[in-house]
Amino acid sequence: MSNRLRVVVVGAGFGGIAAAIELQRQGIADVTILERAGGLGGTWRHNTYPGAACDVPSHLYSYSFAQRTDWTRLCSPQPEILAYAEEVARRHGVDRLVVGDTEVTACRWDTTTATWTVQTAGSRSYEADAIVLATGQLHRPARPEIPGAESFTGRLMHSAEWDPDLDLRDQRVAVIGTGASAVQFVPEIARVARSLTVFQRTGNWFLPRRNRPYPRAWRAAVAHVPGLQRWRRAFVTHYGEALTAMIRHPKTLGRIGAARSALFMRAQLRDPELRRKAWPDYAFGCKRVLFSSAFLPALARDNVELVTDAITSIGPDGPVTANGRTVEVDTIIYATGFRTNDFVAPMEVTGTDGRTLHEAWSGGASAHLGITVPGFPSMFLMYGPNTNTSGGSILVYLEAQAAYLAQALALVRSRGGAALDVRPDVAARSDGEVQGRFAGTAWTACDSWYRDGGGRIVANWPGYMREYVRATAALDPSEFTVVSAPVAAQPADSLSG
Ligand code: NAP
Repeated sequence: MSNRLRVVVVGAGFGGIAAAIELQRQGIADVTILERAGGLGGTWRHNTYPGAACDVPSHLYSYSFAQRTDWTRLCSPQPEILAYAEEVARRHGVDRLVVGDTEVTACRWDTTTATWTVQTAGSRSYEADAIVLATGQLHRPARPEIPGAESFTGRLMHSAEWDPDLDLRDQRVAVIGTGASAVQFVPEIARVARSLTVFQRTGNWFLPRRNRPYPRAWRAAVAHVPGLQRWRRAFVTHYGEALTAMIRHPKTLGRIGAARSALFMRAQLRDPELRRKAWPDYAFGCKRVLFSSAFLPALARDNVELVTDAITSIGPDGPVTANGRTVEVDTIIYATGFRTNDFVAPMEVTGTDGRTLHEAWSGGASAHLGITVPGFPSMFLMYGPNTNTSGGSILVYLEAQAAYLAQALALVRSRGGAALDVRPDVAARSDGEVQGRFAGTAWTACDSWYRDGGGRIVANWPGYMREYVRATAALDPSEFTVVSAPVAAQPADSLSG
């Protein structure tokens, strides 16, 4: 193996960008980022619905090494976040590593050469010593299978595939789903649509988020008062950790969270009937707590109706509910989330002994620290199993993962090996620890997208951001097997294509 490691990163969202920057920092220059979309940005490129923003304050939803003091609001809108991702990538020279419009279909480990072959949907393939799968958890839209949907004569689309030309002024609109995406665009649509019917399957817990543009004086203070930005980042970090503490301890701290949320929701939902319909029936924090001061008031508007009857079918004119009512609409928007448990699918990843990741995960997805899987040498996952957060910023996790995988590759180099494979007993032990830590937490108190079909919680990290950062800070070489370089391997200097 050449000392010049070749790394292919799949996905150019915040995870892929963080990985590429860290690899470059560690002197690994041969990095290629393959991206299905036309450019970088990941979820912030795809989710362009009206009102799209991050509900995590920007001074925490940003890289620690690329802090900005000129955010226009507490929680930045999608265009601002996308521009930030592009700017950081450009400043660190990783934008030029992105090969857009390139969908990876398969990655295959070759034991004889100790390399990965990365196959794209075109005819091109790439050879690499290590692969970083940074495709995220929230990139494949989940569409509900509602009978008759194909017979609908109006327009039907998913919130993650928003048509920029869609004009909902004076339209009759139905929104199916009331998760984090819906709560952002429902108030925007309510303002312009003739009628808006929101179909809710489960109510949510809400906390306030006003998110007005910062006054000029405040922006000047953030830009010029030394330490103010750092203090705000630390404050939001503690706020996120406190939210996690409430989820971890539903019978004690969780009650405080539920009471705070209930107070806010009661003030927002004056109509008792609407309040009854919108109220959640599960423990605070089991599903994602939603931050919005605009969603519940939007439901109270005259042109908006909240429907909690189940949808049994969709006819030519619109959704049909269990009591036989047809809600006639021009447009139906699925705000039904993403296929989160598939992780890297539909990409087929084949490791040692011809075993696929799909097979390795037949009992449920898992990875050591959410990053490495036994039998898949030098394959690193960004935002892998059990690394989602309900309290805090995913960017904290992504940075930790990027630093960890860079350490892994430094170890490969220093040992003169070809790759690093996590020991199966280590992965099994850490999975047991992760799953064990969910016991007694609010996450186990309801069904959510954090679980897979078997009920295992596979999306979320069960603890605090600081715990994850600590756990990944120093890679333990004894947890890995160094895969030897094949004797006949010739140095390879660049990616083959
Ligand atoms: P989501 O949270 O998974 O919400 C999906 C919604 O659709 C839920 O209300 C769900 O109801 C409903 N639903 C799903 N299938 C349905 C069906 N067959 N019939 C009726 N209703 C159905 O999806 P999302 O709102 O797109 O958000 C996904 C994740 O993306 C979030 O949890 C968050 O992590 C991330 N996100 C973050 C932000 C941010 O600002 N940081 C913004 C948007 C999204 P049930 O609750 O009953 O399942």
